[in-house]
Amino acid sequence: MNGQSRETAIAFRGELLRNEPMERHTSLKTGGPADFFAIPEDSDDLCGLLSWLQGEGLPWMTIGRGYNLLVRDGGIRGCVISLERFNRIGLVDELFVEAEAGAENLPVVRFAQQRGLGGISFISGIPGTIGGALTMNAGAYGQGILSHTEQLTLLRNGTVMSVCRDEIKYAYRRLELEAGDIVLAARFRLSECDAGIVEEDIRRDLELRRTKHNVGFPSAGSFFKNPPGQAAWRLIDAAGLRGTAVGGALVSEVHSNFLVNAGGATTRDFLALAETIKNQVCAISGVTLEEEVRIVGEI
Ligand SMILES: Cc1cc2nc3c(=O)[nH]c(=O)nc-3n(C[C@H](O)[C@H](O)[C@H](O)COP(=O)(O)OP(=O)(O)OC[C@H]3O[C@@H](n4cnc5c(N)ncnc54)[C@H](O)[C@@H]3O)c2cc1C
Repeated sequence: MNGQSRETAIAFRGELLRNEPMERHTSLKTGGPADFFAIPEDSDDLCGLLSWLQGEGLPWMTIGRGYNLLVRDGGIRGCVISLERFNRIGLVDELFVEAEAGAENLPVVRFAQQRGLGGISFISGIPGTIGGALTMNAGAYGQGILSHTEQLTLLRNGTVMSVCRDEIKYAYRRLELEAGDIVLAARFRLSECDAGIVEEDIRRDLELRRTKHNVGFPSAGSFFKNPPGQAAWRLIDAAGLRGTAVGGALVSEVHSNFLVNAGGATTRDFLALAETIKNQVCAISGVTLEEEVRIVGEI
């Protein structure tokens, strides 16, 4: 870099932050700094950023709003990319809605509702972006967003490509991607639906979350995946772990699959608490829980 800062080595029109604390970008409010945190303005900006990162030999990862992300306390080497400015939503061929990765879930449901379309109201109350929802195959009430997805637009190895419905490989809370893939947008297959009925679905979902999931502290929603045919919260309860804490990380008294930051928690606290839960649940029920939250970064 010869005295020139890395930030000035590229023409970047978006925001490029250095040593950005990830606790500002995760709903659990923990996590050390990312070397770089980039918010590209548009696709050209994103492509310029990626070729610079590649040239510098720096790794990258894309995030949404960090509602399912646990970043280790040592932070993230390389660059975290936020697509929050990629948030257009549009109608395609009457029955399809296309949304960019940075659009948030509820506005996409509302956009469809205003055009007499429904079918994905179950994502209304899931916090985060379309990019995060697709990567996680986010869902509720037995439904996942990828089974309503007609087409995905990815940026893979510098090339924009479309993946159609039959080629999208996914499972419960999982989309198969290649390392370095960035989800740019998706097209959802919807059905004609009265706006009033969609409104009822949205309200029911938001109300249920307000009453049943109101844990009162920062969380990432369900910390563990539900094992096939079982509910993780029941297994955690059966192991007597409701209310257990390590440092500031606590098994919520309201919902025992929500691990919350009750104040001053570090990621180390969450990881230690998660380990205790996994060991105890395995000892009592013989089931190995698997984290739903994505754990990234350095110790
Ligand atoms: C109160 C609460 C309730 C919740 N309820 C639910 C629920 O009912 N159902 C459910 O499924 N989840 C739930 N969650 C979890 C979370 O909201 C979802 O997983 C959500 O989809 C995460 O979106 P995000 O934009 O914050 O993604 P992030 O947490 O930022 O990212 C999640 C993963 O996706 C990757 N990613 C994000 N965007 C892209 C992209 N454009 N390209 C490539 N990779 C990308 C990230 O690297 C990371 O691995 C809940 C969370 C909270 C806090």
